Amino acid sequence: MRRLDKIRCIDMRHRIAVVGGGPAGLTFARVLHRHGHRVTVLERDPAPGARPPGGSLDLHERLGQLALDKAGLLAEFEALSRPEGQAMRILDTDGTVLRDWPARPGDRANPEIDRGQLRDLLLGPLDVQWGRGVAEVVPGTRDGVLVRFADGRQETFDLVAGADGAWSRVRPAVSSATPHYTGVTLVETSLDDVDTRHPGLARLVGDGAMAVYGVNRNLVAQRNSGGHVKVYAYFRAPLDRQTDLDAGLDAGLDAGLDMADAEAVRSGLLALFDGWAAPVLDLLRHGAAFVRRPLYVLPVPHTWTHVPGVTLMGDAAHLMPPLGAGANLAMLDGAELAEAVAAASGAGDLDEAVRAFEERMWARAGRWAEITTAGLERLVSPDPAEAVTLFDEVQPS
Ligand SMILES: Cc1cc2nc3c(=O)[nH]c(=O)nc-3n(C[C@H](O)[C@H](O)[C@H](O)COP(=O)(O)OP(=O)(O)OC[C@H]3O[C@@H](n4cnc5c(N)ncnc54)[C@H](O)[C@@H]3O)c2cc1C
Repeated sequence: MRRLDKIRCIDMRHRIAVVGGGPAGLTFARVLHRHGHRVTVLERDPAPGARPPGGSLDLHERLGQLALDKAGLLAEFEALSRPEGQAMRILDTDGTVLRDWPARPGDRANPEIDRGQLRDLLLGPLDVQWGRGVAEVVPGTRDGVLVRFADGRQETFDLVAGADGAWSRVRPAVSSATPHYTGVTLVETSLDDVDTRHPGLARLVGDGAMAVYGVNRNLVAQRNSGGHVKVYAYFRAPLDRQTDLDAGLDAGLDAGLDMADAEAVRSGLLALFDGWAAPVLDLLRHGAAFVRRPLYVLPVPHTWTHVPGVTLMGDAAHLMPPLGAGANLAMLDGAELAEAVAAASGAGDLDEAVRAFEERMWARAGRWAEITTAGLERLVSPDPAEAVTLFDEVQPS
């Protein structure tokens, strides 16, 4: 059979949809596209730029970069990414530099890329169906797996891959697991044009990231491209009222907080980090808008009894603390599932391919979930020295 005929034949047999156009879903679609397969990408956001894309991501050589290689996009990634962003500096709460690891020349182990740039790179020629929020997925109907959309419409497919993140609507079709709160909340803010507007802070942050670890709280600032700096304040807090934290925070950062009231959030954070070096606190003083992200995780390990026609990948399958692995794993999941699907010809083959993918993903994600869960305990810890020790263990000497 000629290659094109073969592709048409496979496309007629397998109607494949991926729910979610994040790192997992787009990598899946892009690798399938490279193999000449059609895939329907269903994304809830109305357009690619509908939400701020979030902070910079470091893509590991053997995870995210491997996935990009499978998509044929490694050279383009290398042109866009920032190897200098691998620099890392740790300060004491009084501003003393405790550790300073500049990026090593030629080191391409974990270069950084802005999420928006990564999304656009993956999007390329893909035809994403924007504004198509999925409400529910029902496997095992006469015509395949039924996808019900938020607007009431419905469609059936042979394979539905859930890449719809932490609060996945696909997950209930295979698993009853739901994310639980880690006890750690993160409030994110950002500064623009730092080199011109805040040159002192630009030097403090450097080319990569700067972190300060205190008792049960820490502050991390990370340079993105174009002079943009993201600032993350992590702290332990119950989800409801935070009576065990100081009054400023209790007044400002509980679940009922109006995050749009930037001044209230800022005062709550400044009270929480009271006594820390002035330049470090300036990162919060100059932050524009604030976003609150209580950190949730899925149980470890999270596995399920295989359901023909439906699978999960990325955060939908293995939501874990945000310690530099989630997007990498999501992309490799996407690339590997795509390769497995591309190699499968008949319906039985497709199901076997998905089963084998799941086994592989569970094992890898389980290992990373343990690492990142232990990492979060040490980075937001009663003993700040634990965080420095953790970096000493993982930074190349
Ligand atoms: C502060 C922070 C920093 C992080 N830093 C890093 C890092 O440096 N490195 C790293 O590897 N990871 C990092 N992560 C983790 C990373 O962001 C996630 O693991 C990654 O985005 C997961 O990708 P995903 O495609 O599985 O899900 P998502 O990125 O969540 O994408 C899901 C997509 O599905 C769409 N969607 C949701 N519901 C529906 C629906 N019902 N119907 C249709 N579409 C839907 C969403 O709009 C979204 O586009 C960080 C996370 C946080 C919070």
